[in-house]
Amino acid sequence: MAYQLLNGKEISAQIKSEIAEEVRQIIRNGGKQPHLAAILIGNDGASETYVAHKIKACEQAGFKSSLFRFKENISEQKLLDKIKEINADDNIDGLIVQLPLPEHISEEKVIETVDPKKDVDGFHPVNAGRMTLGLPTYIPATPKGILELLKRNNIEISGKHCVIIGRSNIVGKPLSILLSQKNETGNATVTLCHSRTKNLKEISLQADILIAAIGKKEFLTADMVKKDAIVIDVGIHRVKSDKTKSGWKLKGDVKFGEVAGKCSYITPVPGGVGPMTIVSLLQNTLAASKKEIYG
Ligand code: NAD
Repeated sequence: MAYQLLNGKEISAQIKSEIAEEVRQIIRNGGKQPHLAAILIGNDGASETYVAHKIKACEQAGFKSSLFRFKENISEQKLLDKIKEINADDNIDGLIVQLPLPEHISEEKVIETVDPKKDVDGFHPVNAGRMTLGLPTYIPATPKGILELLKRNNIEISGKHCVIIGRSNIVGKPLSILLSQKNETGNATVTLCHSRTKNLKEISLQADILIAAIGKKEFLTADMVKKDAIVIDVGIHRVKSDKTKSGWKLKGDVKFGEVAGKCSYITPVPGGVGPMTIVSLLQNTLAASKKEIYG
């Protein structure tokens, strides 16, 4: 059977235009334009690109956005003060602080300083706790985007064996909770694998839905995938290329060329999970602006 691509680029464009239509409606009715603030520290190439994509997506959806840039050597206190200032700014609905942070700044303190009401990344312990309990919250953008991608492709999750490789706080761990939740986007049997998993291939071969969030280029090979599995590739790796204008091309955690032929569905990189992540951030920001979660 030929595989089908889970086209995140197309679906995210569709969702973005649905959001843009809703925003036009809100503004026509005299409501507030959603406003996302982003903090970017330093000049890391990947972080620059991610933030630029998020800001561009805001423009496309009719949101206001504000980018606050700081040098690599900003003090932790100055950063925390800025976050508190944004927390208190009634015009701003959502705040993201692009990770990773420089080593002298505590990620934990930064995440805990963002007001949970504005934490559209869903990283604050209050929002992570609410997610774990199945309460309304901001779901982290990448897991949220993956669930939406499955849903919009009518892929049944209930009763499936989902194997996730990678236990990060922003992707693997929240996904393991969401997929095992007792609701319409959950009800799966979930196995969460990580760097200490001993029999990885034995487990991955059992997966109906296999999610690679490992951070290692083309780690997942065809011999690790069951025939007709659904494969979701979260990885993003920039590799040099003389075939593209930018001089770079993107690869995932999955060796697409050999894995795709074994799958029923697979996400491409680029154009799979990445654009779904960005549109999920827009959905969370819109929810914040409409005060859907915390009133
Ligand atoms: P991470 O890089 O923080 O952690 C990697 C995880 O993989 C760890 O939990 C580790 O236990 C596991 N791992 C490492 N080596 C392993 C091995 N040999 N066997 C089994 N497990 C192993 O994870 P992350 O932040 O979720 O990022 C993973 C990848 O996803 C990266 O390439 C990142 O750039 C990408 N990413 C993409 C998006 C997107 O929007 N598409 C969003 C976030 C992250």
